[in-house]
Amino acid sequence: MRRDEGDETAVRRAYLVVLAVPIVLVLAILVFDFGAGVGDAYRRIALPGLLLVNGGLLASLWRRWVPLPVVGLFVFLGPAAWVLGRLVTWELVPSTRPANAGLLVAALAWYGVVFSLAFLVFGTRRGAIVALASYLLLYLGATVSAVAGMLADSGAIGVVVFLAAGHCVLIMIVWVLARNVERLAVTRARAELLELQATTDPLTGVANRRRVDEELLLQVARARRDRQPFAVVLVDLDHFKAVNDTYGHEVGDQVLVTAVTWLRSAVRETDLLGRWGGEEFVILAPGTAHEEACALAERCRAAVAAAGEADPGKRVTASLGVATFAVHDDDARSLMRRADLAMYTAKREGRDRVVGIDGPDAGGTGRPPPVAVGE
Ligand code: GH3
Ligand code: MG
Ligand code: MG
Repeated sequence: MRRDEGDETAVRRAYLVVLAVPIVLVLAILVFDFGAGVGDAYRRIALPGLLLVNGGLLASLWRRWVPLPVVGLFVFLGPAAWVLGRLVTWELVPSTRPANAGLLVAALAWYGVVFSLAFLVFGTRRGAIVALASYLLLYLGATVSAVAGMLADSGAIGVVVFLAAGHCVLIMIVWVLARNVERLAVTRARAELLELQATTDPLTGVANRRRVDEELLLQVARARRDRQPFAVVLVDLDHFKAVNDTYGHEVGDQVLVTAVTWLRSAVRETDLLGRWGGEEFVILAPGTAHEEACALAERCRAAVAAAGEADPGKRVTASLGVATFAVHDDDARSLMRRADLAMYTAKREGRDRVVGIDGPDAGGTGRPPPVAVGE
């Protein structure tokens, strides 16, 4: 999964929670209101409305009907509209005002959710601006109410001032946290890029020698532990010096890049294709027995040869050596030595061919029993 996709999934999950939790709460409140025979007009209209909106948004999020930023906007505006609607109704219709200040304070306290959501929905910089703007609007409204004498009636001015200070601190804390998360994401992205650069061959984009060496040790250890077959294939382009001498180094580079495309088309997803050095490539094939590995090598040989035929002027072929890991006698070095020996045997026998050596004893004589697979 790409990093962007990962971030989007995280935001999608956060929205799912933010939308689903109120549905549970609202259902509980509705059941309570109904059972106790309480609940004012605002609750009776707004709560079912909230259920509908959140349910619709959840479905849209699930089925991907609406783009994520649009859902985000609703996620932010929903709680803001809810609390503001509550406060404005109390201000405009005095008969709906609660008898004690507790409900007013509770409604205001919920606005903390809106400030936090601003950072989730709009990102760090814009989130801070939106959070501060909504903070100013809310407490400007509260100040106007206080001046108009309505808040004073409920005796809640002290608590509102206390909440305003608390919300200010909350915005600061969420802002610092959001900035840290953002910095962490940048650091992580840089680390991933460095890791990629340290393990990738810059010319061809396949794994570099360092990465191949690491993976080789890992696969050898795995093959020994799990008693699973493991094969390596060494690929050396034939007479590559002549390509450079005839067409120049730049064309030579291009041929190397193209050769990787051909090889990639022949290897499987579980195999690792890497540059062993110069015009030599290596394929690490875990879970692959000898005959299967020879077939894989033959596919690679045929792919390189076929591509060369399309442009006979720049025809390239490859010689390939296959070696299979032997649990009791092998380590990474002896395995690669055998693959090298097999590859040089293929060169000696005329190039553009595959030679496989199955088992360490076969290579010891210097004359391996070749499993030569066609030209
Ligand atoms: P053989 O069939 O025996 O393998 O012959 P060869 O010419 O391929 O082998 P040799 O080892 O004599 O030459 C390898 C050539 O590969 C020489 C070198 O200039 C070339 N080469 C190695 N790395 C690169 C590279 O990154 N770019 C280019 N263009 N050429 C490279
Ligand atoms: Mg070579
Ligand atoms: Mg060569």
